[in-house]
Amino acid sequence: MLKCQRCGEEAVYKRIYSGEALCRRHFLKSIDDRVRLAIKRYKMFSPDDRIGLALSGGKDSLTLLYILSKIERAFPEAKLIAITVDEGIKGYRRAALRIASEACEKLKIPHHIYGFKKLFGLTLDELVRIAFEIGLKPRPCIYCGILRRKALNIASEELKLSKIATAHNLDDVVQTYMLNLAHGDIYRFITSGPVTESKFTGVPTRVKPMVLIPEREVSLYAALMGFKFQPTQCPYTGSSLRSDVRVLINRLESKHPSIMFTLLKSFEEIANNLKQSVESPKVRKCSVCGSPATGDLCKACELLAKFKV
Ligand SMILES: [Zn+2]
Ligand SMILES: [Zn+2]
Repeated sequence: MLKCQRCGEEAVYKRIYSGEALCRRHFLKSIDDRVRLAIKRYKMFSPDDRIGLALSGGKDSLTLLYILSKIERAFPEAKLIAITVDEGIKGYRRAALRIASEACEKLKIPHHIYGFKKLFGLTLDELVRIAFEIGLKPRPCIYCGILRRKALNIASEELKLSKIATAHNLDDVVQTYMLNLAHGDIYRFITSGPVTESKFTGVPTRVKPMVLIPEREVSLYAALMGFKFQPTQCPYTGSSLRSDVRVLINRLESKHPSIMFTLLKSFEEIANNLKQSVESPKVRKCSVCGSPATGDLCKACELLAKFKV
């Protein structure tokens, strides 16, 4: 029997990159501690923050909800609010919404739902259908990314949020850095890290408190805690460059167990150095909605204009 190195009980997990074997209790504690460490190391929160947690209903965001709600209890001035963006994807989002609501009820966290249909007049499914009709190649992940960001900005304004926390784990962050390198998008590369301050005033800083936790350990945490989560993948998840990057990094990781932490550290250092020299785009005001924009229109209005709504 493999024994926990901290207490001698039966181990449930052996952490290959550190050699540490841990029992259930100490594994869970190590993950909670890793979130606290990230919050401290990257100075993610202030004691009086109003934190909006982007809650999809998947295992990662439910894990973050659970851990942050525990941490928040020690900070009576801080407020944690869950936000679920409903893109309007048939057969996918409804189950996740129910799971998200139930989890918030259990933890007594206020929960707000922002739907594409209500905010923008169209669901993601409808955008994809219209794209076909007007002869565009549908790019659901691009549309979703732009409108989700806009929805979260609207939520931040309405709910007076000072931070947005997302459940990106170590794998996600390393993939995003690499993906933006592969796209040649240096501005996005430098804003791929655990803390992203917006170039726009009034738009809250985005933080990723699970940046130090590998994907596999988030899954184990969710399983050990018995979280009910949306098990199916978004039907629009396709064979994008991101999946190739994921395969590549996973292959590296399986041969060189701590390489993801090393990549994270290197990317962060490069990004921090580049920040001094890369000029951020000039901020203007969207002529349709008044939101901060880099061109005449903000990205969301630009997209919606193409679909003539
Ligand atoms: Zn133990
Ligand atoms: Zn706009």
